[in-house]
Amino acid sequence: MEIEILGAESLGVRGLCCFIETKNKKILIDPGIALGYHRYGLPPHPFQIAVDERIQKRILDRWKEATDIIISHYHGDHIPLKNANPYQLSLKKVEVKRDVSFWCKGSDSLSPTMLERYKDLSKVFKLKNAQGRNYKSLSFSRLVPHGEANNDSDTVMMTRIKEDNLVFVHASDIQLLNNGAIDKILSWFPNIVLASGPPLYLSEFPKNKIKTAWHNAERLSSKVDILILDHHLMRNLEGLKWLKRLSLKTGKKVICAADFMKKPRMLFEAKREQLYKDIPVPEGWHKDYARGKVNTKSYWNKAAKLYPVRNPANSTIIQFPALKSGELDMICRKPLLLSRFIPGLKAGEFAANILNETSFVF
Ligand SMILES: [Zn+2]
Repeated sequence: MEIEILGAESLGVRGLCCFIETKNKKILIDPGIALGYHRYGLPPHPFQIAVDERIQKRILDRWKEATDIIISHYHGDHIPLKNANPYQLSLKKVEVKRDVSFWCKGSDSLSPTMLERYKDLSKVFKLKNAQGRNYKSLSFSRLVPHGEANNDSDTVMMTRIKEDNLVFVHASDIQLLNNGAIDKILSWFPNIVLASGPPLYLSEFPKNKIKTAWHNAERLSSKVDILILDHHLMRNLEGLKWLKRLSLKTGKKVICAADFMKKPRMLFEAKREQLYKDIPVPEGWHKDYARGKVNTKSYWNKAAKLYPVRNPANSTIIQFPALKSGELDMICRKPLLLSRFIPGLKAGEFAANILNETSFVF
């Protein structure tokens, strides 16, 4: 089984999209993307939009290859949309291929907006209600809460994929807030879990909920080999501290999507103010972008110069002797500093990885 996480907050955008390749199937889960429309009173920075464009292209390429597409729920960062904003995936862009199996959250008890989106998709694709079903290597949960148990419409469907002795679980927007959702994941005996963590970036997010999420993160992490927490959790830097604390507490690998993909952590939404400071944006740029009058090219190029990781020979890679080889690399670049936790990655591999054009030390 090969797991590629395509979009998530630590990879620079909102979402939890991944592509799983098994011997017989190519499975695309939650093919959508978004950018926080406003954070710190600022719209997305053009450099982040440039990253969004590249990830959209990757999702569309994987869409063409997919034998199976899974939709956990109908929020705008998880599906292509008829009325996409400039940073989301437009339904017009996706290939209409008839021989793809769509495994989806059903249309019962959707809110009016979500039902509209479901209908838009079902005009183009044959959507199967997969809730609670098993199909060979694929299993789908019954609906679990999108966060806390709140109402029937705010729910998601989780996916289990098994091949040989490996079990991967995609647990979309559960935010670790519902004990029943965690019980269900554990009953699937997974090796690797990709899940959304709690939204610590929300200033009003209550302490008791943080406690519940922490408890559930501990439960999950103590039972699985690799726990990948991302999405809501990676919308501020506090999320990174969580990963470290959890890893120390349970002695297991708790990482974000960027770590799993062996890329630098690109929490661009959390760092939005700094992006604007480093690379100012003229007023009216976003309106012009929406009208197709300007593009992101110059911002991409400026960022490439400002956050230069193209030439690993200029990087200083220090192995921390207290840790196993490759567990922690520290890349020092004046004036930027990045410390990273990359399980199982040797320094040389990291140097090769940072040559990838979508990877920026930030
Ligand atoms: Zn989401």
